[in-house]
Parts: sequence; C-alpha cells; structure tokens
Amino acid sequence: MARKSTPVRDFARTSEFRRRLLRWFRRHGRDLPWRRTRDPYHIAVSEFMLQQTQVSRVEPYYRRFLERFPTVQALAGSEPAMVRESWAGLGYYRRAAHLHQLARTVVREHAGVIPADPELLRLLPGVGRYTAGAIASFAYERPTPAIDTNVARVIRRAFHPALAGPRAERRLWETGAALVPRRRGNAAWAFNQAIMELGALVCTARVARCGECPVRGVCRTGGRSGGRAVGRSGGRAVGRSGGRRR
Ligand code: SF4
Repeated sequence: MARKSTPVRDFARTSEFRRRLLRWFRRHGRDLPWRRTRDPYHIAVSEFMLQQTQVSRVEPYYRRFLERFPTVQALAGSEPAMVRESWAGLGYYRRAAHLHQLARTVVREHAGVIPADPELLRLLPGVGRYTAGAIASFAYERPTPAIDTNVARVIRRAFHPALAGPRAERRLWETGAALVPRRRGNAAWAFNQAIMELGALVCTARVARCGECPVRGVCRTGGRSGGRAVGRSGGRAVGRSGGRRR
C-alpha cells in the first residue's frame, strides 16, 4: 500500500510552499490594523470580531472599541451594557459577552496579562483551538498553527485534496503544525498571516484562482488545474471558529 504523503515526509514541497507563500505575502498582504500590533489584548479583540465577519466591516468597530476600551483592565471594569453597546451592529453578541468575560478572567486570574500558552488560552471564555493559536502566534509569535476556514481550505487543497472522514480535522491540524516555521522572530507570525491571506484573497471558498496563485507549483490541486480556476471544494469549516471570514 502506498504511504501517505505528509509535509513532514515531503520536506522539499513544504519548504517551497512556505518560501513562495511568504514572498507573495510580503508583496500582496493587506495592511490591516491588527497586523501592526503585537498587543495580545488588541489581537484578541480583532480575533473575536473577525469570527463570522468580514474585514471591511470589522475595521471601524475595532478602532472604536479600542478607543472606548483601550486596555484589558478597562474592558474588565465596564458594565455589560456598555460593551454590548460598543458591539451594536456587528452581530453575534455572544462574542462580545465572551470577550468581556475573557477580560475579567485575565484581570482576576492572570494579573491582567493574556497568556501566551495555547493550552492556557483555551481555558479562557470564548477561546477555541483556532483563537488560541491565533493569539499565541499573532501576539507572541509562537510557532503554533491557527487553522480557520480559510487556512483549512488551503491546506486541504494544497496537501490533502482527497481528505475526508472523521480523522480529517486532526490531519489538517497535523499538517498545519508541520508547516509553521520554528525559527525565532516573526516567521510563524508571517506564515500564519500569509496562509490566511491566501485563503481570503486567492484560494477562496467560491473559487481557487490557481492561475494567479504563488504556490501553484507545489499544490496538489493547482498543479493539476493547468492554471485554470477551480470551483468550490474543500471549504468545510474546521473547529468552533471555522466560520471566520476575511
Ligand atoms: S494553486 Fe489553486 S488550489 Fe492550490 S492553493 Fe493556490 S488557489 Fe488554492
């Protein structure tokens, strides 16, 4: 029986995927306010807002929310009605309630510092596997995967186009973990931002624009497409933050 190919076994493909992706991101990545900060509280606010909501809608809310609650302590000390009012119009109000509870927990149990360890992050209100990875990576530059719907789609199409069944999610996280660079510095931050951006702008749920994709030469789907756009496939949500939109 043929052995399954994984990024760990397929080192050359993995390295080339990373290299091409990062080069593309340096040129085409969007300048978003939460990409200009490593403040864990600001990152947490952006991640809660981005669940189920597009970037263009989130940006003004993100700025206003941080003007009103500039620190985790300010948010923790606010009344729930004030927090809800600041969220009005963004929808999915449970996110606001969870973020408020998170702030109170961080102040009460972590001396006002959002943890860097994904396992500790997952104990906080409203934080699932994806959000824990995102905060650890985007705030603390930890080499941990952060697999939302967009990232899952890219990994599935690029490495596991036939992936299905009950072990599929676990496999995607294993591949995601193998792909994240271990180097010190912002390598993991940049990789996670880049693969998310590719899923948002090029390898989208509606269409995979393989002809303009930087990783086509090392992608198991795009390599067969001859550069043509590929229709909807592989866009299944993963985890509780699977509905994150960009
Ligand atoms: S080559 Fe096509 S399928 Fe592969 S990652 Fe790029 S857009 Fe997605």
